Amino acid sequence: MSTSLVMEELDLIKIRKDFPILSTTVNGKPLVYLDNAATSQKPWPVIRAIESYYTSLNSNVHRGVHYLSQKATDAYEQSRRKLATYINAAFEHEVIFTKGTTDGINLVASCFGKQFIGKGDEVIISYLEHHSNIVPWQMICEEKGASLKVIPINEKGELIMSAFDKLLNSRVKIIACSYVSNSLGTINPVREIIGKAHALGIPVLLDAAQAVQHLELDVQELDVDFLAFSGHKMYGPTGIGILYGKESWLNKLQPYQGGGDMIKTVTFEKTTYNELPFKFEAGTPNIEAAICLGNAVDYINSIGLDKIARQEEELVEYATAQLSLITGLRFIGTAENKASVVSFVIEGQHPYDVGFILDKMGIAVRTGHHCTEPLMNFFGIPGTIRASFAFYNTKAEVDILVEGVKKAITMLA
Ligand code: PMP
Repeated sequence: MSTSLVMEELDLIKIRKDFPILSTTVNGKPLVYLDNAATSQKPWPVIRAIESYYTSLNSNVHRGVHYLSQKATDAYEQSRRKLATYINAAFEHEVIFTKGTTDGINLVASCFGKQFIGKGDEVIISYLEHHSNIVPWQMICEEKGASLKVIPINEKGELIMSAFDKLLNSRVKIIACSYVSNSLGTINPVREIIGKAHALGIPVLLDAAQAVQHLELDVQELDVDFLAFSGHKMYGPTGIGILYGKESWLNKLQPYQGGGDMIKTVTFEKTTYNELPFKFEAGTPNIEAAICLGNAVDYINSIGLDKIARQEEELVEYATAQLSLITGLRFIGTAENKASVVSFVIEGQHPYDVGFILDKMGIAVRTGHHCTEPLMNFFGIPGTIRASFAFYNTKAEVDILVEGVKKAITMLA
């Protein structure tokens, strides 16, 4: 590892020891993990918390009076409090545990759509969306006879806000937009979107899957109505995520799924529903993951999101500068405001072939459409090679990527 690391703001040598997988090898080479937008690696405090849960806490939540059930329930609710503080929710019960971003968006599309979207109405999304913020809205629009409108983008991969203004009208019932694009890294002007939407009484859902681990996020300051993210992209376990919803909206929505925990009373004639947040948490949740997501939040806080953001910004800047020296490499997504992602193509080469060769060198990047097929169609490409950074990545790793890409180009020529 480069000695220059100790000069950096974060003690990367120490930090990297927190993530055991980072010191493993792949194909006989030290792992260079640059696929953090797909999922991040996990630090020891999260890994140990998972073991600790199963060795000292395992029990169902909200159900038993016995010791373990009480302890598990306390830990589960404590984690909810940590998440509420992390995003500065006004109330803990505005934080719903879900399976992940996809689950959270489907919940809103389904519940909101059932009650508030009708024939002839419109839903606005953007060209940058992940399939999970396209398909659920398409499904509800189809069911209700509503139409999906899309905020266009420019060649840099930025939203064209003048076009957004023209899409706004009284038929629009909700706007669902990503905070940060997973394919390009574009940071969208979400404050402007929310401000303009609210001026017309339109609620906004933000897909924060690529934002919550990189940017300080305050749901009250944003005044956002719904916000969804995944635990596994923020150093936590898979199969867990958060849907934040304003209390007023969550109280208006009918439950998504029926089952245990979401009820107050059940008779064969009628069921009454539990209060928030339990109304939206039917069945036994992913208890271990929910609890350990709280440990991931503790870990992020112990490093500091401001330092994380600065380190990642530096990596994006450095990678962009170094990769730009390679002949035949074209960046896809050159927005002014970007977070954590560098996407590119190599002239005359399929991204998959480049990714395959990089893998042989122990370099993990993502190749393909990144679940944003309409966006790839906009650029007229089958996909990109995407390097996505976390704060534990180093400039030395960027150098390995750059050398790897050069080598791949030579080999494929
Ligand atoms: N939205 C964005 C912007 C994403 O990057 C992802 C994951 N790639 C998702 C939604 C879906 O997240 P999950 O698969 O964790 O539900």
